[in-house]
Amino acid sequence: MGKLISIASGKGGTGKTTVTSNLAIALGKLGKQVIAVDADLTMANLSLVMGLDDADVTIHDVLSGDANLDDAIYSLPNFDNVHLIPAAVDWEHVIKADPRGLPEIIKPLKEKFDYVLIDCPAGLQIDAMSAMLSGEEALMVTNPEISCIADTMKVGIVLKKAGLAVLGFVLNRYGRSINDIPPEIAEDTMEMPLLGIIPEDRAIREGTLEGIPVVLYKPDAEGAKAFMDLANEIVRISGVKSKVMY
Ligand code: ADP
Ligand code: MG
Repeated sequence: MGKLISIASGKGGTGKTTVTSNLAIALGKLGKQVIAVDADLTMANLSLVMGLDDADVTIHDVLSGDANLDDAIYSLPNFDNVHLIPAAVDWEHVIKADPRGLPEIIKPLKEKFDYVLIDCPAGLQIDAMSAMLSGEEALMVTNPEISCIADTMKVGIVLKKAGLAVLGFVLNRYGRSINDIPPEIAEDTMEMPLLGIIPEDRAIREGTLEGIPVVLYKPDAEGAKAFMDLANEIVRISGVKSKVMY
């Protein structure tokens, strides 16, 4: 049985989509069968950063009952072992899709894939909650800034209460400012394990623009190496905590 991992944070722009796309490809490189799901129904951009620009059928069509799930699953030939469920970006599709249907669609994917990575919206509104509760484990993403850490912590607490196994957090965009909260202080504050530090790296942004996540775009970049380390850490710990909890 595969792992269902929600990629979540308190604020937007912390790097959830960047983490989802790079982790998916990194896990694929490690030989795992992966599916990345764009569950950010109102601000979807996972397919953009993964270079899929001609998707006819999306998760919105599945939610509105206009398509079957299998028709919304795309394999990405440029990335070994990686599949993607894209989301629509136009408002007409958004208003027809009820986010509360997400868990029912996403949870069964663990029967077909080793890792189901769920790119969630930020915050605690109904669309974000529905996306996050589609997972069994959560990977929190924060930046080294106090309000960002506080907000991501809040979301982590809610997810724990809801029964998810919170694996820990990723400190993303580290090294951008001299005022960055140091990793050890972030870990103390978050009260959950620090699973990886992703540096501020312009190669990450370049990869985003090219539609090729950095682990493939520039595998030797510091950001790419950090994502490979994170993937190895996820392989090591995912599934262990939830086995104890359930
Ligand atoms: P979210 O999904 O949480 O809203 P994104 O993953 O879309 O955030 O990231 C927002 C922007 O920040 C993107 O343009 C992305 O390329 C950039 N970004 C994310 N992480 C890094 C990093 N470590 N270094 C440089 N740029 C980054
Ligand atoms: Mg995003």
